[in-house]
Amino acid sequence: MIIKPKVKDFICTTAHPTGCAESVRRQIEYIKSQPKTNNGMRTLVIGSSTGYGLASRICAAWTDNAPTIGVCFERPASAKRPATAGWYNTAAFEKFAAEDGLYAKTIVGDAYSAQVKEEVMSLIRKDLGQIDLLVYSLAAPRRTMPDGTVCNSVLKTVGEPYTTQSLDLEKNVLTEKTIAPATQEEVDATVHVMGGEDWADWIHALKKENLLSDKIQTVAYSYIGPQITFPIYAEGTIGQAKKHLYRTADLLTEEGIPAYVSVNKAVVTQSSSAIPAVPLYMSILYKVMKETGTHETTIDQMYRLWRDYLFKSNPSTDEERRIRLDDLEMRPDIQEKVMELWHNITNENLKDSADIAGYWNEFYQMFGFEFENVDYSADVDAEVQIPSLVSAEN
Ligand code: NAD
Repeated sequence: MIIKPKVKDFICTTAHPTGCAESVRRQIEYIKSQPKTNNGMRTLVIGSSTGYGLASRICAAWTDNAPTIGVCFERPASAKRPATAGWYNTAAFEKFAAEDGLYAKTIVGDAYSAQVKEEVMSLIRKDLGQIDLLVYSLAAPRRTMPDGTVCNSVLKTVGEPYTTQSLDLEKNVLTEKTIAPATQEEVDATVHVMGGEDWADWIHALKKENLLSDKIQTVAYSYIGPQITFPIYAEGTIGQAKKHLYRTADLLTEEGIPAYVSVNKAVVTQSSSAIPAVPLYMSILYKVMKETGTHETTIDQMYRLWRDYLFKSNPSTDEERRIRLDDLEMRPDIQEKVMELWHNITNENLKDSADIAGYWNEFYQMFGFEFENVDYSADVDAEVQIPSLVSAEN
């Protein structure tokens, strides 16, 4: 089929296999150009197909020379519809890994479920023996709990409603958004989905089966951001879940499993595009960070995590023991410039005050579009296989 982008609000419902492979290839090329750590730490990445999880898996493989198992929730192509971007990314990741002689297998399914945990554990037992690193990079809208109830994650405030300027992603104009406060039930549900419960479940299940090596470390990701997004992020429902994640890191560490939360910078991913005000904030941030030479993408951020923090005896953290990869984003001079633009932005100066084009370019590239070296008029086979899934069936 000939695949064109179909964008609705913050999501693109199509993805391009060649473009997604190009996106993965570029991230790998970047990592190959950097010094390696070469520890070969056997790595399990939960949420491995897009965004920070995919970049983590790429760093594990090509920075650390590690065998990787990925877990993600993606959909293959059907007769009428291309697969999801994460599906194509994973197929490309495995292909490039095989070319470079790196072990890579993927389980596609619901990471919250006992069944997927069992499948992953039997794969580890069979192929790797144990793991040395577990990266928890899930961003999910819902979770089916062990008793069958479904919890939905919501992006709401806690306490008062909050009105903020935002970017109307359909028209590329400023708009105002009021975010309603969550009920206690909604807060609790968001914590069940995006907090640390499932992270701890994974660690405990693996530990019980003796699948964690004595070098084991684990890392999950969070975001804090500036004051203007606090009501919707750090102090909102998602922020409550992240607070649970921080507590989980401490509890796991007390149990003898070194567990870190890395606070990463804002980058365009399928999850971050869905948060009100964040695309506008990110567009302004991108402009300022590009102008000051401090702009980083997902892969730059993850490379720094592998190079400077993971498997270091005393990695530098803030006073709450969090790794701060958002150090450049939060630098006072950067934030001062961003806030000045944020408070003075209008529809007339929007394109000068914010890197709207850069935002959209990264957005389209997440789905494999807008790569200048990909021929989008060509007929492509949308039915791409993930190699390890095919071999698992045989
Ligand atoms: P993303 O949407 O790009 O990736 C989410 C991943 O989770 C995908 O691999 C998807 O397949 C997987 N997934 C979703 N539901 C699943 C399920 N039920 N079972 C198995 N896999 C499932 O998200 P992202 O932005 O990279 O976020 C990853 C983490 O990084 C989150 O904790 C997020 O809060 C954090 N973070 C993101 C940003 C940002 O700006 N994007 C900044 C800092 C921290």
